[in-house]
Amino acid sequence: MIKAVLFDFDHTLVSTPIDFGLMRRSVVQLCGSFGVTVPEPDTKLVLEIVDEAVAQLDPVVGARLRGMADNCIREVERGAARGVLPIAGVAEALDRLRAEGRLVAIITRNCREVVLAALRRVPLAYDLLLTRDDVDKVKPDPAHALAALAALDTDRAHALLVGDFRADIACATRAGLPGLGVTTGASTAEELFEAGAVDVLTSAAGVPDWLAAREW
Ligand SMILES: [Mg+2]
Repeated sequence: MIKAVLFDFDHTLVSTPIDFGLMRRSVVQLCGSFGVTVPEPDTKLVLEIVDEAVAQLDPVVGARLRGMADNCIREVERGAARGVLPIAGVAEALDRLRAEGRLVAIITRNCREVVLAALRRVPLAYDLLLTRDDVDKVKPDPAHALAALAALDTDRAHALLVGDFRADIACATRAGLPGLGVTTGASTAEELFEAGAVDVLTSAAGVPDWLAAREW
């Protein structure tokens, strides 16, 4: 039986108008103002761009860039949290999973302040929230999922990770648990399967039925 379901947050549990293009452009521009160029930024996650840029600087200047980049990212995230919208059926799906005796975790690269603000607008029931502020390494690093499993006292054989993005599926695969894709974000079903998804649903609202059909 699947005892724990780990969900990504943005575009998996809620619809968030995070403008990742704006976030990336702002961070790249900021790095440029420190005299650092990160090659092919469009192929990288925003936090990875920051890591690469910081690695090129001396520690003191690097820490200053990291602090400014963090503010820049949070500003875009805060704006997005104000426009967060529910995804139909998701709140009910989480309630059903918990009523079935399963644990629900949210694991997200977003920050705690913004996720909690979004959850005040779109209340969802969950047992654990692990944002990037709560862990040393975030998705796609498997440590993010493994930290959730440890906190929930559940092993990987009894867990599932649900997400809309390849970093979610990569995290699941590397942590040794099945990754279930959902197409409520920017990734297509093909991209999610290519990333290693065991299956792809049109919404996280379908997770309880999907588990029931497999007697998981
Ligand atoms: Mg997402």
